[in-house]
Amino acid sequence: MDPSVTAECLRQRDAIIEEWFQRVSKRPVARSLSRLSILNNMPGLVDQIINALGRAQVWHGAVDIPREIAEEHGESRLKLGYGLIELGEEYNSLRDAFLGVLDSAGIVLNNAAASTLHGAIDQAHRAGVEHYIRRREEQLRDRQSDFLARLVHDFRSPLSTILASVELIRRDESFSKGGPKNLDRIERASRRLLLLIEGQLATEAALAGNLQYQAEEVNLSLVTEDVLAILQPRADEKGIRLQEEIPGGILLRTDRLLLGQVLQNLVDNALKYTPVGTVWVRASETGSGVRITVEDTGRGIAPDLLPAIFDMYRRSEHFSPGRGVGLAVVKTIVSFLGGTLLAESELGKGSRFSVCLPRAHSVPT
Ligand code: ADP
Repeated sequence: MDPSVTAECLRQRDAIIEEWFQRVSKRPVARSLSRLSILNNMPGLVDQIINALGRAQVWHGAVDIPREIAEEHGESRLKLGYGLIELGEEYNSLRDAFLGVLDSAGIVLNNAAASTLHGAIDQAHRAGVEHYIRRREEQLRDRQSDFLARLVHDFRSPLSTILASVELIRRDESFSKGGPKNLDRIERASRRLLLLIEGQLATEAALAGNLQYQAEEVNLSLVTEDVLAILQPRADEKGIRLQEEIPGGILLRTDRLLLGQVLQNLVDNALKYTPVGTVWVRASETGSGVRITVEDTGRGIAPDLLPAIFDMYRRSEHFSPGRGVGLAVVKTIVSFLGGTLLAESELGKGSRFSVCLPRAHSVPT
């Protein structure tokens, strides 16, 4: 291993880092990031690689480089929303930066020097990617168990209502006192359960690109009532006011279950991301149909994140750790129903999601 390579790399350390920065900062994923977040662990990684070159000079061969800095690098890239391809591009750029700077300094790498340099960068790349994948899998597992926990939670309340009401009916032998009222309770709770199950089926169908459309005459305020009945217990737990302002008598020809699923997702999010205050569900008739809005006084969404909220499985940790499919599914369903979806938000103040649907839509486009 040629000592002049290590010496030149040490002299040119800052130039290598700058060359790397110039290359990677132009990538779309880095566009809105600060210089500090882009540079991140790279200076430490460059030092390790130069160190490895120095050690190879003494030991005449390949050397190991420690994994920690590369792992930290992988971790930070995951948090910033980089994909594996973008992470790989950073290591290719690192290779190019080393070779480019050495080339400008007139240093020609012999085989041993080239294989040590590439070997060290490959090791760092592998450590970064392995860590990235491990953490990504952990995140997905957490999301799935959160999702399951919420599903179980949502099922528990209507099921308890059904069982308690059956018990009351059983004790009320003449069926005169509370019987009819308890039957009503059972019916409402069963409808809530059905809506929950159908909602999950619609989500899976939307994810699989396999939505089915059944047009019927739908009374908007009745659908909203059913949805709000499911979500009222969650609003109560959080002390949030859930307010419905839907004029009676708005009729649409659309798919009732899918419309219910859209409302359920939007109100669910509004409750999830509102620590205190109110969530309103409103509707008004427009020239060609109806405009439904779900508005909250919650934490809002930063303007630079707003365009990405409808993306499936957003990767950035700037977003909350949900299953990450809700709004993408809402968007898919709304366009399936021939409508449009708009999100407006102000950070710290709240958000408003508007769904515009045609009055009649019989053949989905
Ligand atoms: P999930 O909630 O599972 O992460 P969604 O697709 O439902 O996935 O929402 C995407 C992201 O949009 C959320 O992670 C959250 O950051 C943001 N978001 C959605 N609705 C709201 C809201 N009403 N207020 C604030 N942020 C929201």
